[in-house]
Amino acid sequence: MGHRSLLSLGLVLSLAACAPALQEVKEARELERASEDFVVVVAREGDTARTLAAKYLKGADRAWIINDFRDGAPIKPGDVVVIPIRPRRLGGIEADGHQVVPILTYHDIEVVSKSRFAITAELFEQQLRYLKENGYVGITLDELDRFLRYEQALPKKAVVITIDDGYKSVKTFAAPLLKKYGFPATFFIYTDFIGGGKHSLSWDDLRELKTQGFDVQAHSKTHNNLAVPPPNESPAERAARLDSEIVGLKQLMENRLGGEVRYFAYPYGGFDPEVVAKVKGAGYTVGFGAKKGSNPFFIDRYRLKRYSVFMEKDLTKFVQMLQIFEKD
Ligand SMILES: [Zn+2]
Repeated sequence: MGHRSLLSLGLVLSLAACAPALQEVKEARELERASEDFVVVVAREGDTARTLAAKYLKGADRAWIINDFRDGAPIKPGDVVVIPIRPRRLGGIEADGHQVVPILTYHDIEVVSKSRFAITAELFEQQLRYLKENGYVGITLDELDRFLRYEQALPKKAVVITIDDGYKSVKTFAAPLLKKYGFPATFFIYTDFIGGGKHSLSWDDLRELKTQGFDVQAHSKTHNNLAVPPPNESPAERAARLDSEIVGLKQLMENRLGGEVRYFAYPYGGFDPEVVAKVKGAGYTVGFGAKKGSNPFFIDRYRLKRYSVFMEKDLTKFVQMLQIFEKD
C-alpha cells in the first residue's frame, strides 16, 4: 500500500527538506499527520467523504466511516478531516450501550393506498428522503449478516429496507425511488405469487431487479403461516410441507434467479423450533420475523425483528422505528 508507507513517515516536514523526495512531498501536501489509527488531511476543493474514502479507506462506499466520525458534518475545502483507518468497534459497542439495527418491512406501494399494507409512493419517497436527509445509511443483508457474526462494523445510523411478497409495485415505484435516494433493498418473495398476474412481479422482473443491484430472497412458497399447521397433519406430512416451503424453495429460487438464496423471512413472522431448524438446516444464514424491534449483533440470527411500515401520513411513527442504539 503506497500511501500507507508514505504516511508512516510521520514527519512530512522533515521530508520537505530533502530534495529527492519532491514527488512524495507534492503528493503529501494535504497530509497533516498520520498514525496507526488516523489519517488527518486538509480537504481540498472537490473533496467529499466519498472521494476521501476512495483514497484512504479503499472504497467510496466506506464514506460513512468518515461521516460518523464527524457526526455528519459536511466537508468544506480547508477543513481538517480526521479519517479513522482502523475499523469501528465490531458490534457497535460503546461505553454506555450498543448499536441496534432497524429493519423496515414494506409490502405494496401504490399511487392511492387501498389498505394499511399499501403505502403511497408519495409517502415512501417522503420516508426515503427523511432517511437520506437525516444521515441514515442503507445496508445490505450481507452486511447485516456479517455484523451479526461480529465480523463487520456498520454505520451508526444503519438501516435495512425489505419489501415483502413480490408486488409489481416493487418494480414500478419502489426500485426507481430506492435508486434515486441511494438505498439498497431486499425483496422477500413467495414463489406461488410470482408471475401470477398483473399485481405480481414475474421471474423476468426479478432477474432485472437483481441486475440493477437489488437482492431477492425467500419468503416461502405458499405464504402460509409455517407455525400454524393444518388440522390433523401428521409429523411426516409436516416435514414434507416444510421441505417444500423452505428447502425446495431455496433450490427453486437459486435455479431461476442464479446466485445464492441465504435469507428467509417467515410469512406472518410465524416460526417455531421445527421451522427454525428446517431453515437453518437448509443453509439459510438468517431468519426474519415480524416482531417489532431493532437488532443488536448478539440477537438469535434466526429470530430477527422487523418493523412493518403501514400507511400513516404522519412521520412520527416512522421515526420511532428508527431505533439505532440501546443503552446498557
Ligand atoms: Zn408476506
